[in-house]
Amino acid sequence: AKTLRLILGDQLNQKHSWYDQVDDDVLYFMAEMRQETDYVTHHIQKILGFFSAMRNFSQWLEDRGHSVIYYKLDHPDNTQDLTKNLNQLFKAHHIDRFEYQLPDEYRLDEQLKNFCNDISLQTQAVDTEHFLTSRTDLADFFEGKKTLTMEYFYRHMRKKYNIMMVNDKDPEGGKWNFDHSNRKKWKGEPEIPPERGFRTDLSEIHKMVKDAGIKTIGSVDAENFNWPTSRPDALSVLNYFCSNLLKHFGDYQDAMDPDQAYLFHSRLSFAMNSKMLHPLEVIEKVISHWREHKEEIDISQVEGFVRQILGWREYMRGIYWMKMPGYRRSNKLDNQNELPEFYWTAKTKMNCLHHAIKQSLEHAYAHHIQRLMITGNYALLTQTHPDEVDAWYLGIYIDALEWVEITNTRGMSQFADGGIVATKPYVSSGSYINKMSNYCSSCHYSVSKKTGEKACPFNSLYWNFLLEKKEHFENNQRMNMMMGMLEKKDPDELEQLVKRAQEIIKNPQNF
Ligand code: FAD
Ligand code: SF4
Repeated sequence: AKTLRLILGDQLNQKHSWYDQVDDDVLYFMAEMRQETDYVTHHIQKILGFFSAMRNFSQWLEDRGHSVIYYKLDHPDNTQDLTKNLNQLFKAHHIDRFEYQLPDEYRLDEQLKNFCNDISLQTQAVDTEHFLTSRTDLADFFEGKKTLTMEYFYRHMRKKYNIMMVNDKDPEGGKWNFDHSNRKKWKGEPEIPPERGFRTDLSEIHKMVKDAGIKTIGSVDAENFNWPTSRPDALSVLNYFCSNLLKHFGDYQDAMDPDQAYLFHSRLSFAMNSKMLHPLEVIEKVISHWREHKEEIDISQVEGFVRQILGWREYMRGIYWMKMPGYRRSNKLDNQNELPEFYWTAKTKMNCLHHAIKQSLEHAYAHHIQRLMITGNYALLTQTHPDEVDAWYLGIYIDALEWVEITNTRGMSQFADGGIVATKPYVSSGSYINKMSNYCSSCHYSVSKKTGEKACPFNSLYWNFLLEKKEHFENNQRMNMMMGMLEKKDPDELEQLVKRAQEIIKNPQNF
C-alpha cells in the first residue's frame, strides 16, 4: 500500500509525529503553486519567505531519509492547482491512501474536504500538532456566554498549561495581567540592539517568481533576505529576542518611531505561523530565560509576551473556526469606501501613515500598534469597506494567514464583527498617536489643531466617525464617555470638523 501525505506551505512542523519514522510506503508532497500565490496580491517577501522555508523543510525531510516530491513553481508537471496535482500523482505513483494535516485556512479546508469526498482513495486528516487548542476548544469554553472575553480564556490557558502559576491556581507575581505597565513612549532610550538580520540569497527564487509574472506588492533585497526561513535561523531569532529584547518588550510594546521598524518586538510571527517554531517552545524558552535573569527582566515584560501567544494567538484561531465562513462577510458598521492609493505607495503627508506604510512595503512587517492604531485606525475612521482592508492586510505582511489576519483586521481593528473580538472600536484622534509615537513632531500637520489646513486629519475624522456611526454605539457602555463628549460639542465646531473630514474621505490623495 502506498500513502501520499500532503504538506502545505504553512505546515513546516519538524516535530510532527508523521516524521518519527521513515516509511518506504509513504511519499510526501509539497508544491509551490499559483493557486497560493494568486488568491490575494502578496508582498514579494511573503512569497519568497514561504517558498524558501518550504524548500528548506523538504530538504530536511530528505536528509532524514523520507521520500519527498517537491514541485517548484516552474516544475514541468506542476498544474498550479492543488487537487489537479494530487490526482496526477495518485495515478503516477499508484497511491491508494491520501493523508493531510488539517489546514488552518477555511479556503483550503473546504477544498481538501470536498476533494476527499470526490475521490475513491482512503483518506485521513490529522492534526498539525502545532496549536495549544483544537479548532473548537474556544467555542466550547465560551458556550452559553454572551461575551467572549479574551482575558478569561487566557487565564484558563495559563492554568491548563501551568504557565507562570503558583500552586496551580494563582498567577505568578500576584496578577494575571501587567498590561497597564506596558505603555511607554520610546524617546531614544533604552538603546535598541541591532536587529538579528539574515543575509540569505534568495535571488534564484526571486527570478523564478518574476519570470512567472506573479503580481506582488512591496520591495525586496533578494540577495540579502532578512527573515528566518529555516528552523535553525528561526531558533536564533528566538534566542536573540530573549537575550536582547525581552527585557524591554512589555514597556515599549505600544511605542512607535519613524526610524525604528521593530523596536523590541520579536519578529517571530512568520516563524510561528509557518510552524517552524512551536508556540509552547517559544513560551517555555522565554520563561526559562527570564527565570535565569530575574535580576534584569521584570515579570511584566514576560507576562505581556506570553499573553500575546498563549492568549491572543490561540483566541484568534478559536474565533476564526467558531465564526467562519460568515465572518468573512461581516460589515456591521456598513462601511463602503475604498482604501486610498497611498496604502500601496506610502505617498501621503500624514507622517504616521507614511512611515507605517513605507515600512510595511520595505519589510513586509509592521508591529501591532502600527497595524491597529495607524493603518487600521485610518481605514476605520474613513469608513473603508472591510473587504478592502482585509485584502491589504492579507497581502502585505509576511505573517498574514487568514485565520489570524481576518480576526485581527475585520474583528479587532475594523469592528466589522460588531464587537466579538473588541468591545469598542479601536479609533483615536491624533493625540493618542502623539502620545505613543515620535511621528507627529516631524509631520506636515499639527496634531493639536482640529480645523484649518494644517489640522491633523485624524482629529476631524475621529469626530465625524462618531457622529456618522452614532446609532451603532448607543448601547455600548464603553463608548458612553466619547458619545457624551460628542453631544456636548459646539455645533459650529462640529460642522467644521465634518466638512474637513468629508474632504479627506473624498480626496485622500490630497492629504
Ligand atoms: P510581537 O509583538 O513580538 O508578539 C509576539 C507574538 O505574539 C507574535 O509573533 C504573534 O504570534 C503573537 N501575537 C501578538 N499579537 C497578536 C494578535 N493580535 N493576534 C495573534 N497573535 C498575536 N498577526 C499575524 O500573525 N498575522 C496577521 O496576518 C496579522 N494581522 C494583523 C492585522 C491587524 C489589523 C492587526 C491589528 C494585527 C495583526 N496581527 C497579525 C497581530 C500582530 O500585529 C502580529 O502578530 C505582530 O505584529 C507580529 O510581529 P512580532 O512577531 O514582532 O510580534
Ligand atoms: Fe499622524 Fe496627525 Fe501626528 Fe501627522 S499630526 S503624524 S497625521 S497623528
